[in-house]
Amino acid sequence: MSVNGHFASAGQNGTANFEHGVQIVDEDKQFNPDLAKYLSYTGVSHAGFNYHLISVFGSQSTGKSTLLNALFDTDFSVMSESERRQTTRGIWLAKNKSATTEMADNILVMDVEGTDGRERGEDQDFERKSSLFALATSEVLMVNIWEHQVGLYQGANMGLLKTVFEVNLQLFLKDRKSTSRSLLYFVIRDFLGTTPLQNLRNTLMQDMGRIWTSLSKPPGLEKSSIDDYFDFAFTALPHKLYQPDQFKAEVAKMATRFRDGQRDRRRDALLGEFDGGIFLPEYHRRIPADGFSHYAEGIWDQIVNNKDLDLPTQQELLAQFRCDEIMREVMVAFDEAITPFETQQADAARMGRAEAISGLGAAMKGARADAIKNFETEASRYHKGVYQRKRTELESKIDTRLKVLFAGQLSAAHKEGVEQFSDAVSAAVKAGQKKGASYDFAEIVKDQKKIALEKFGSVGKEVTIEGLPWSNYKQEMALYQKELDKISGQLRRDEMRRLATRVERWVRSKLNDSVGLEFNALGSGRGGTGAPEHGDRPSEKGIWDRIWSLFVATVQDAEKRFADRAASFDASAEEVEVGIWRLRRKSWGVLRSKIDEEMMEGNLLLKLRENFEDKFRYDEAGVPRIWRPTDDIEGIYTRARESTLTLIPLLARFRHSETGAPPPLDRWIGPTPAAATPADEEDLTPIGGVDEEEGKSLEEETTVLNEAKRQDLTVRFKKAADGVYVEAKRSAIGGMTQ
Ligand code: GDP
Ligand code: MG
Repeated sequence: MSVNGHFASAGQNGTANFEHGVQIVDEDKQFNPDLAKYLSYTGVSHAGFNYHLISVFGSQSTGKSTLLNALFDTDFSVMSESERRQTTRGIWLAKNKSATTEMADNILVMDVEGTDGRERGEDQDFERKSSLFALATSEVLMVNIWEHQVGLYQGANMGLLKTVFEVNLQLFLKDRKSTSRSLLYFVIRDFLGTTPLQNLRNTLMQDMGRIWTSLSKPPGLEKSSIDDYFDFAFTALPHKLYQPDQFKAEVAKMATRFRDGQRDRRRDALLGEFDGGIFLPEYHRRIPADGFSHYAEGIWDQIVNNKDLDLPTQQELLAQFRCDEIMREVMVAFDEAITPFETQQADAARMGRAEAISGLGAAMKGARADAIKNFETEASRYHKGVYQRKRTELESKIDTRLKVLFAGQLSAAHKEGVEQFSDAVSAAVKAGQKKGASYDFAEIVKDQKKIALEKFGSVGKEVTIEGLPWSNYKQEMALYQKELDKISGQLRRDEMRRLATRVERWVRSKLNDSVGLEFNALGSGRGGTGAPEHGDRPSEKGIWDRIWSLFVATVQDAEKRFADRAASFDASAEEVEVGIWRLRRKSWGVLRSKIDEEMMEGNLLLKLRENFEDKFRYDEAGVPRIWRPTDDIEGIYTRARESTLTLIPLLARFRHSETGAPPPLDRWIGPTPAAATPADEEDLTPIGGVDEEEGKSLEEETTVLNEAKRQDLTVRFKKAADGVYVEAKRSAIGGMTQ
């Protein structure tokens, strides 16, 4: 309100204030924009349609301003008794200040410069312009007339009325649809009481009828009657100076007529004694109070520039101007409510933070509803078409902003939800692992997905504004669900990997034991190819058969574990197939490395030596031999050595004991499943004979010792065996010498 706070010093005359009202048009025909301030100062601006405008006309110095001040407690300048010169210049406006409770709210009175003024001479131009202005804006036109001038048809008043009627026809030519009428309210001054008011009225009506007939009417309005446009009322007042008390009493009575009235009693108003309200709804020009000053300025501008006054167009222009202004006002409040959220959202986005803003939807709805409601309250009073158009414009302005917030909120909820979902699933899995119990992965995913969807749904619902198709989050929800499904799939694959790793570890430990045992058995030398067979000993020759079948059995066992567990993840048949395929390949790798470990030179040499010693130092019954010189040490040595030597080619190649074929690794592993992704194959070691592009055959894959190693091993073993033989020989001789 700071602007209005300065009204007192911002008056039209530099130092003037609003004490005397506001001079809306000055003597130079300039419009004074202070009118808006005055209306705001007097509290009329927000009255909507609840205000009234009346103008007063009449010859100069007929006591008009005096009467207005008496009626409305205004402070229009009046001619001082001594100076006798015209005081009212241009057009003044003041608000009714009377304390009379019967009067209507917000009566605005326009005091129009008197006609036939001495100073202006025959300034018909101003008279015409001010009449037109008054007619275009006022509900009631008060015509002030001395009683002794009634019936003087040639008098100045009649000239004024002629002007008013002409100007009225001019207006209606452009505005035929308008139903607005005006009240011509005759105030007969210095009424003596000798001639009844009724007679004066009749005289005036006859005179007006004559004036009307004499007017040249525009085409289409030839047949129009004065009653089509005007109602009439009459009041007679005694001489103010000679009969001050009666004057006061009559003015007080007259003042009460400035209140809302009804049409059906209008006829009675023709009688001076009528005490009904004179403000009929149809007189109102329907210009909202907050737009009046702009409207008045536009009208005056047209009039002063001698343009055709087209009220409907002026009203449309006003509507556009005011609707824009009101829109700006409501947008200020909207900005205040919404900008902080926009900033918060933009900041979060810039920092890469994903968080839905709580209470955003409520703020959006509140700000939108307030803006539209406030706009509607103020703007709907204006031209309907313009109002509707501007309202649509406002809504689209608001919704453009809200749409961005809506989308940002859902995208934050999406990101946030996705993060929380994978974190929650991982945490639940971890908790399940800690407890050691076999947690249900599929159940965990299902529960967390439900929570995630509900959360998203509630954020979506919160920012949904009913009745606005754009604020529907169904599509975003579908995208979100899709994303969760994708992540679930990823998490399930991760979980499958973890399971596969566990199963592989199990296979490794099983094979370590069982394959280790097989190789250890070699060291005992029992069941050797050369030595006599013992029923309970596994044959050396069948070592690969046994390793293969225990390998296959172990992996089969592992596969079952894998498949059972994977089923509880809701893994697809394809995923299980890929998992098993990987498990077989990896298990083969495990077996290969176990075999390689056993075949490490040192290990193998030790085993061969043990094998040989066992055959050489023990008899068929497993009893240690005490060498005697008579023993065929050389023969036993040779047989044992040859028997052990057969192990080298046997162990060198993983072969079936009967067929001599390598294990059916290719068939057993099978082809790469169609569902296998590059990621599934990424960490796999190529297998000869299985992976064609390896350029390695199955025979090569299953060859454990190459030729060079075999020869080297043979040489070293023989040396070791020789040593044992020499020692035996020595001990035999030694035993004899003992
Ligand atoms: P305006 O020019 O029509 O606004 O007239 P003013 O209100 O300025 O008054 C002009 C003169 O008429 C002043 O000197 C008043 O004192 C005087 N006057 C006011 N009321 C009456 C009245 O009822 N009868 C007569 N005869 N003179 C009046
Ligand atoms: Mg005056």
